[in-house]
Amino acid sequence: MPELPEIETLVRSLRPLLIGNRIITVWFSGQPLRFPLVPDDFDRWVISQEIHAVDRRGKYLIIRLQNQAALVLHLGMSGRLSVVPAAAEIEKHTHVIFDLLNNRQMRYRDPRRFGLVEVVAPASLADYVRFAHLGVEPLSAAFTAEYLLSLRGRQSIKSRLMDAGFVVGVGNIYANEALFHAGVSPIRPVHSIDKAEAERIVQAVCKVLRDAIRRGGTTLNDFRSAEGEPGFFQLELSVYGRHEQPCLACGTAIKKITLAGRSTFYCPRCQK
Ligand SMILES: [Zn+2]
Repeated sequence: MPELPEIETLVRSLRPLLIGNRIITVWFSGQPLRFPLVPDDFDRWVISQEIHAVDRRGKYLIIRLQNQAALVLHLGMSGRLSVVPAAAEIEKHTHVIFDLLNNRQMRYRDPRRFGLVEVVAPASLADYVRFAHLGVEPLSAAFTAEYLLSLRGRQSIKSRLMDAGFVVGVGNIYANEALFHAGVSPIRPVHSIDKAEAERIVQAVCKVLRDAIRRGGTTLNDFRSAEGEPGFFQLELSVYGRHEQPCLACGTAIKKITLAGRSTFYCPRCQK
């Protein structure tokens, strides 16, 4: 499943290809995605519109149009959005094709069809139902040590970081890595975290996500950028997947446990 760094990378690669371009027509395969597509909405709000911006909220892509309507896409488990020459062969499982002005097409392909392609009418994005329960952006000024400690409780710090209603886009690998770099044990209840530890966690989350964005995401899935380039480099994982291997900092064997149903790796010596 694509994670936040991959989506951010996709947003950045889409901008030069889409901004200033125009959507001419839209083709649908007729098969439903996570929610059925509503062709009338596309006809009404999308066709003939110039693309003004490409943004991200959590793992949703937002393509903003000249009429203030927006296309919202989520890649689900296996979705891929690409911009290719109109003559390029259409791959199996392509479900939506946007014809663009410069003889290019933006194509949405999704073998498992858990993704989402929706149109949000002008001025409705602020009330858009799918964004209503999303937490703060981890790379925004709102994600601070104070915020991290604002909701105390017995929940583990790792589960809190992975709670998308609290902070979006910190997937399992990133939560493991960030807590290793912060020197905080993933099983610690949130109420036991002090201010200095919270500062280190916030900084580590930002660093891990920024490093991944710089590298173009992880190679743990077959994500590709908008022009179909593989372009992805191995994320240097310090603790994730290193069960029983020596800790890179102290040599102690990395421990693996299951926490809230997810694989959790940590150094019992470095992470207090
Ligand atoms: Zn260690």
